Amino acid sequence: MHIMMVASECAPVAKVGGLGDVVYGLSRELELRGNTVEIILPKYDCMRYDHIWELDISYKDLWVPWYQAAIHCTVWSGLVQGRKLFFIEPHSPDNFFNRGDYYGFSDEHMRFAFFSRAALEFILKSGKQPDIIHCHDWQTGLIPVLLFEIYKYHGLEHQRICYTIHNFRHQGIAGVEVLQAIQLHRPEYYLHSDRLQDNFNPNALNFMKGGIVYSNFVTTVSPQHAWEARYTDQGYGLGHTLHVHKDKFGGILNGLDYGIWNPEIDPHIPYHYTANNLTEKYRNKEALRNRLLLKPAYKPIIAYIGRLDAQKGVHLIRHGLFYSLWNDAQFILLGSSPEKSTNDYFWHLKNYLNDSPDCHLEIGFNEELAHLIYAGADMLIVPSLYEPCGLTQIIGLRYGTVPIVRAVGGLADTVFDRDHSDKPEQQRNGYVFQNTDYTALESAMHRAIDLWYNGPDQFHQLISQGMAQDYSWRYAGQDYINIYEHIRCQ
Ligand code: ADP
Repeated sequence: MHIMMVASECAPVAKVGGLGDVVYGLSRELELRGNTVEIILPKYDCMRYDHIWELDISYKDLWVPWYQAAIHCTVWSGLVQGRKLFFIEPHSPDNFFNRGDYYGFSDEHMRFAFFSRAALEFILKSGKQPDIIHCHDWQTGLIPVLLFEIYKYHGLEHQRICYTIHNFRHQGIAGVEVLQAIQLHRPEYYLHSDRLQDNFNPNALNFMKGGIVYSNFVTTVSPQHAWEARYTDQGYGLGHTLHVHKDKFGGILNGLDYGIWNPEIDPHIPYHYTANNLTEKYRNKEALRNRLLLKPAYKPIIAYIGRLDAQKGVHLIRHGLFYSLWNDAQFILLGSSPEKSTNDYFWHLKNYLNDSPDCHLEIGFNEELAHLIYAGADMLIVPSLYEPCGLTQIIGLRYGTVPIVRAVGGLADTVFDRDHSDKPEQQRNGYVFQNTDYTALESAMHRAIDLWYNGPDQFHQLISQGMAQDYSWRYAGQDYINIYEHIRCQ
């Protein structure tokens, strides 16, 4: 099969969070299974160009319809760790992708509406005939709409679309003027409750809803979250739409790319290890302490890695930090927020704790440091309020770093409490709590720290059980192929 991924991120070249990991990891898995995969991304000025090989012009004069005219684009191609990517570069005063950052601009919906139209125009004009176009999140929600309303009649009649939702919180809510820009006329047709009309605001378009309505199949990134999106407020207003389209909706747990996340070969960590030689993991712990100037001490290191977004339970992250310091543990935080007030708050906390020998806050994005923290820490907290899949806990398991998570979304699908799970004992791999208050987090952290100090053998056993579990793309890769095969025949 020929699969064209279209997304706003792909690790490691343009990664903000798990979306980037998934686009890269799934593409690699599909290729290993003998499929041809190509990936289309915007050409951001802030990408990690040092990860792109053989960057070259692939299509010189692509004219993308926009309002009553067209925008001139250059399409570049390059190899990113073996994957073939195309980067769309528009030449227009809007300067859509030369902003020094990936997201966070007031014309966000216009940027990605343009990208969606451009991706299809490129597929058409370059003569590519992929069997499947796999789109991700709200940024590409208009692609299925455009394919089945326009491009199908101009040469892309055989393509089928799989649409994966990584985060229901961000849906791409926009005014109808976007339709004019991408040349979808008849606003009254699209602004209809059966199509793109937002379920709350009757005057607004909802890109993600369009993606759900028009795609041949829709997935989200864990079975538990598929249920939550339909039956709880975690669908952020799209529960009814998912219900209407329930026959083409399902949850597939994300995999982890073990080619990249593997403590046996990880180039970013100084000491490689397996579950059988954990002494090497502890040498990484030492290296981590040296790097971040933490005091050498007989204490566990507890870490948080991730975006500092309200979704992630910011008040619990902060509390986890102090609880660690009060209970003879060290704490490391690596994260940043697009919101200035949250970033300022964590900078304030960093300055306040500047003299503590037991904690380090690294505010920013640092892929290499993340690998060392996963390898060197003993435990990882993931206290999310909601979590469609979550990758950090899965990476933690792979690196023998025991996850302490809230029982929500993909966290509930992957982490099983050592003391209270209904899973057999050998499948338990971490600590789980239910509520969003401090006591809930404390009870799980207390049990983890206690076992670290008072039951080192059992703690090692827990580490080994986590490391032995297979969260690679093996299963999810097959699930996606089954979906592609299914929709190809429609
Ligand atoms: P989300 O997609 O909601 O951001 P996930 O847990 O699915 O959360 O994926 C997060 C990914 O981003 C992981 O690979 C994690 O290591 C990485 N990550 C998040 N924040 C940072 C950061 N500040 N520095 C380095 N890597 C980060």
